[in-house]
Amino acid sequence: MKKIVRLVVFLALFTIVGFTLYNVFLFKPEVSGLKQLEKLPRSKEVKLYIDPPPRSGEISVIAIQGGKEFTLFKDILRENIHEVSFKVEPRKVGLSDGDAKVVVEIKRFFVLKDRYEVKAKVDTVPPRLKVLFYTSNILQGGSGGVKVNLKEKASLKLEVGDRIFKSYPLSDRVQVILFAVPRNFKGKTVKLVAEDEVGNVSTVLLKVNVRRNRFKTFRIEISKMEESLRAKALEILGYDEAIPLPDLFKKINEDLRRENENQIRKIGQRSVGEKLWQGHFLQLKNSKVISLFGEKRIYTYRGKFVSESVHLGYDLASVRNAPIPASNSGVVVFAGDLGIYGNTVIIDHGFGLMSLYAHLADYDVKEGQKVNKGQIIGFTDTTGLAFGDHLHFGILIQGYEVTPLEWWDPKWIKTRIEPLFQ
Ligand SMILES: [Zn+2]
Repeated sequence: MKKIVRLVVFLALFTIVGFTLYNVFLFKPEVSGLKQLEKLPRSKEVKLYIDPPPRSGEISVIAIQGGKEFTLFKDILRENIHEVSFKVEPRKVGLSDGDAKVVVEIKRFFVLKDRYEVKAKVDTVPPRLKVLFYTSNILQGGSGGVKVNLKEKASLKLEVGDRIFKSYPLSDRVQVILFAVPRNFKGKTVKLVAEDEVGNVSTVLLKVNVRRNRFKTFRIEISKMEESLRAKALEILGYDEAIPLPDLFKKINEDLRRENENQIRKIGQRSVGEKLWQGHFLQLKNSKVISLFGEKRIYTYRGKFVSESVHLGYDLASVRNAPIPASNSGVVVFAGDLGIYGNTVIIDHGFGLMSLYAHLADYDVKEGQKVNKGQIIGFTDTTGLAFGDHLHFGILIQGYEVTPLEWWDPKWIKTRIEPLFQ
């Protein structure tokens, strides 16, 4: 009988010791997401992930500042609770701006405590900013700019519809953003968003008057140009199998166009934070405008809809192989073949602003080369998806095409753009 009691006691002890060791060593929870507690702005949602969660326990998140403790969060934990989320509002719990320490403590198995500690910075003041100048009158498909004075270090961006434009520093505390207005923009405001290093966000809505821009629509029957289109397909794609013309045209006008636009968008991000241009932009000399920015083209084949696209530049026709001047000073960021655009040169003028020259015969410039306003960079031709000899001229802001009309206009530049840089 004694033996049995001893065995039972032994087994019980064994189980308790084993269970304890098992919990202490194998069940020590890992807490991820602690980095979020290093920066504490005015308000923040924090999510911590606990793995494995204790079968039963408690979590507390405490900030320590000036020797005092401030409870940020406290809750019970169970086996299936992996994630805890809570809102931290430093001011509400009595924390002051400055340094602090945050301790996450998990109590489990009655007596065990796991502590995780991070150094934190409390900053509950959103970045202050002052708008020094902005273009309140803008045109659909046109351009605009904002000049902002930031009172502290913060990142700044501008939202125009669903487009986001980054800012470039003009001086220590002054930032400039040039932006491209979407062709269908009908908003009443554009939104400045400043975010400081801790994550406090300030937003300012800027009222804008948007002038409507009317874009024409053209219908083009491609069966009438079957031969020349096939020749173009061969030139651009490098092949022309026995694909029906509508399919072949779709490939060029949609797939290749999208690819080319994406490439332009990417190149558009590579602009330098230095104003390289001076005054207004030059238009091709003695040229006739044969196609405008924003025109919609609907292509049909024997009356049936095939494809559509929007023209994102100005087509300028002059004499055959006319010399093309750089419309303003800058640095060549692209010189090469660009699908439907053929031989293309893109010049960066700084602050996100670029000009694009397409369908060239050849180009006399290299990537990285500085060019001066008026300097000849190439000659017009019909490379890419072009039929008559002409220059396709485009202006880009952070990779988005805008109408060049405003940039050709000295008065517009003087009143809308120059004040951004003074
Ligand atoms: Zn064009």
